Amino acid sequence: MSTITSSISLDEIGARFGYLRIPHSVHDSAYGHIRIPIAVKRQGEGPTILLVAGVHGDEYEGPLALYSLMGELESLDIHGRLIVLPSVNHPAFTAATRCSPIDSLNLNRSFPGAEHGSVTQKIADYIANELLSRADYAIDMHSGGSSLQYLPLLLAPTWSDASKRSTIAGLVEAFGSPLVGHFDSLKALDGGDSVFGNVADRQNCHFLTGEFGGGSTVNLDGLRILSGGLRRVFRHIGLTKGEIGEPSQHHTTRHLNLHDPDLFAFSPVHGIFQPEYKLGAELAPGALAGRIFDMTQPWLPPVEIRFKAGGLAVCIRTFAVVKPGDCLGHLASDL
Ligand SMILES: [Zn+2]
Repeated sequence: MSTITSSISLDEIGARFGYLRIPHSVHDSAYGHIRIPIAVKRQGEGPTILLVAGVHGDEYEGPLALYSLMGELESLDIHGRLIVLPSVNHPAFTAATRCSPIDSLNLNRSFPGAEHGSVTQKIADYIANELLSRADYAIDMHSGGSSLQYLPLLLAPTWSDASKRSTIAGLVEAFGSPLVGHFDSLKALDGGDSVFGNVADRQNCHFLTGEFGGGSTVNLDGLRILSGGLRRVFRHIGLTKGEIGEPSQHHTTRHLNLHDPDLFAFSPVHGIFQPEYKLGAELAPGALAGRIFDMTQPWLPPVEIRFKAGGLAVCIRTFAVVKPGDCLGHLASDL
């Protein structure tokens, strides 16, 4: 049994707003607890969709799209259930940091979690065992956070199972994002089994994610794509009927591959990163990603970093100061 409790029912009919409550008794708050905002609406018969943002606390398009949805929740005519958590890693969200300020863990590398673990492990465990277990569909909304800036990009896992593949393809088409990145969820960014998507899949929950901006700011294009996409997915899965939200603003979707490690550039040294490409640029194989200058011996020639593969520049580092192992950005190649 999780030590996290909800102030509202996840299962009763009606629209409710409240908190998940995590006991957190510390120096300045004996018997204190952490409160994570949650909204649930259940009405009629239909699917359950779990909408989660703020897994990383320095990403804002997802939380804002869900704030706006929460504002409409009481009047929204649905057939099924919506479970909405705009800042599921609330300690990180209030600190505006990627990882939790309490235990330094990255929630999206902490699945399946532990019911009696640290705060982040408890949140992961609650998502896996109390939320995903109720959901037919889940959307986990991200951006590049503080250190990366993304072109708004819906991300779809690639499954070997044909039926899952076809369900995901339907969701992707309904969402209507101009750019869709396809990735192998089981290997996602070295996350292995510790990422949200793989736990969702093990619970037989169809899952989408996405990067809708970054740089600790709000990307208005990303917010618009996300808000419209959510409403189109609701209609696609039968949660809402009729025309809800704006129709898709564009007519073509570009499908991109994110599997290839040669699409990524990393810094091998400490220094100042001068990028040599812009977000949205089309780069040939071997193109210069940037030059890194040694701040202690600035008379030395800079280290040149190149992308091995070519493609569309969908991601770039925001911070100029780099150290060995930092991601400088990445490309995506056409599928
Ligand atoms: Zn994130």
